[in-house]
Amino acid sequence: MHDYAARVFEEQQKKAPWEKEFLQSVEEVFASLDDVLNTHPEYEENCILERMITPERIITFQVPWVDDNGKINVNTGYRVQFNGSLGPYKGGLRFHPTVTLSVLKFLGFEQTFKNSLTMLPMGGGKGGSDFNPKGRSVREVTDFCKAFMRELFRHIGPDTDVPAGDLGVGGREIGFLFGEYRRLANRFNGVLTGKTVGWGGSLIRPEATGFGAIYFLQHMLALKNEEIAGKRIAISGFGNVAWGAALKAVQLGAKVVTISGPDGYILDEDGMTPEKVEYMLDLRASGKDIVAPYAEKFAGSKFVAGRKPWEVPVDIAMPCAIQNELNGNDAAALVANNVKYVAEVSNMGSTPEAIACFLEKGVTFAPGKAVNAGGVATSCLEMSQNAGHTSWDAETVDNQLRKIMAGIHTACVENGKTADGLNYVTGANIAGFKRVADAMVAQSV
Ligand code: GLU
Repeated sequence: MHDYAARVFEEQQKKAPWEKEFLQSVEEVFASLDDVLNTHPEYEENCILERMITPERIITFQVPWVDDNGKINVNTGYRVQFNGSLGPYKGGLRFHPTVTLSVLKFLGFEQTFKNSLTMLPMGGGKGGSDFNPKGRSVREVTDFCKAFMRELFRHIGPDTDVPAGDLGVGGREIGFLFGEYRRLANRFNGVLTGKTVGWGGSLIRPEATGFGAIYFLQHMLALKNEEIAGKRIAISGFGNVAWGAALKAVQLGAKVVTISGPDGYILDEDGMTPEKVEYMLDLRASGKDIVAPYAEKFAGSKFVAGRKPWEVPVDIAMPCAIQNELNGNDAAALVANNVKYVAEVSNMGSTPEAIACFLEKGVTFAPGKAVNAGGVATSCLEMSQNAGHTSWDAETVDNQLRKIMAGIHTACVENGKTADGLNYVTGANIAGFKRVADAMVAQSV
């Protein structure tokens, strides 16, 4: 690591050693910046690294809500407005029991570079709450969303900060949140993305993260003169992102053999079909957070309790669930089974040990901030449609998404060249970082 980066990282470690996830994401980016910092002394002169790891604003608030027994519950709500130098803060809201400030800081930090990679005008932000939607009734989730927006509405706006969904926040929750915003602010505008089509949502937005990931994967394969048809793919998760990735992969003739949940994974040696992919939506709608019923419904598949899908022999692995879901042991198992490509779709889905293992063993690995950027990119297309009081057809949105993913892949290749090939981690970090850093220098303090 460059001296300047090492110094700033060490100071941050001393300041908040408990922010493990945040430190992990900072270390990964800083480790990629040697050449950039050597050739751009103005970054150190402008204290860019210190400023880059300090959120511009953190809003923390109380979210009181009433459960179905009439009992009052309290959760903590957050919005981390990380970096606004490229545009309004942009990034999702996560409702999940694992949410802490460290998790939201890592997500906001990653989001800043991801949004930069899209080349669209978006700053980086992230928010959410430690609220656990699992097993909660629709009324309880509605009440929670309204209480959350009661505080958040004064901090957001189409030119200020535009939240969207993430884990635990889908189209339904965005509807509840938007309704409350509209009532409180007396404005109907593009303040949130991921809205339902018909009242401001964009076609292809639900599919965009997964579709974009597969478009990116196609470029990774093309560089090695390979194609996706016929490849065996392991996917983890069964939410919106896993669904979109499985849908596009199956459309393109790949064999998707796994999905997973907190209860274990499904091994489907026959490969998923469009019907099986659609069943993922029913699984999610059940609110039980389990995948086991898939094996009861589709003969030929089996449920493996309490394990992760990385022990299954595949050509391509695509983590689509949560941070650090793929560790060093999982990576070693994939490598032992001759995995060739890992396209990370979850944000920071792989631990540093896993990434080191892939790079060392010659597995082509691409990081989440590049692979999953299609989601937020399409959110920006939704913002454009809202600002222009119009809506585009699916083909227009999909074509733009394809172009954006191609651009991100090219940026990774151009910035990730190494003596012995290509490093997507370095490429994504450098390309994402430079655009933000240059904007910060240009805008002064
Ligand atoms: N939560 C998604 C992400 O991690 C989408 C954010 C957005 O659309 O603003 O990028």
